[in-house]
Amino acid sequence: MLVHRKARSYRWEGVQELPYKEDNRALFSSITRQVLFSGGFSTLERHEHMHAVLVLRGRGHCLVGGEVRRIELRDLITVPPMTWHQFRATANEPLGFLCMVNAARDKPQLPSEQDLARMRSDARIAAFLHGEPDA
Ligand code: MN
Repeated sequence: MLVHRKARSYRWEGVQELPYKEDNRALFSSITRQVLFSGGFSTLERHEHMHAVLVLRGRGHCLVGGEVRRIELRDLITVPPMTWHQFRATANEPLGFLCMVNAARDKPQLPSEQDLARMRSDARIAAFLHGEPDA
């Protein structure tokens, strides 16, 4: 016998239900995401192609190589080749940016556990990756 009991939804009204990640590598299954209070962030990655990122809205912080910087409207951030980088919105605020790249570009690389450990050995970067850039 199979019984399906009606359960509470565990969904928050008025909060958009999103895919867990925009990733088609099948590293996860049957999971969704609702953002309640944290800020968004981009993938922590590096690649050969360069980025020029122009902030169009809101504010946040970026990690580029060994540096964590506050970013705001109209800032232009350049990301050199093979440099770890990530952009994070300030909590409860949008962060909109225009990211300019070459149309022909290499695939981003993700950090290994060893890369992450090396980055986290810097207290400022560890705080940034933990979502507390001013801690
Ligand atoms: Mn990138």
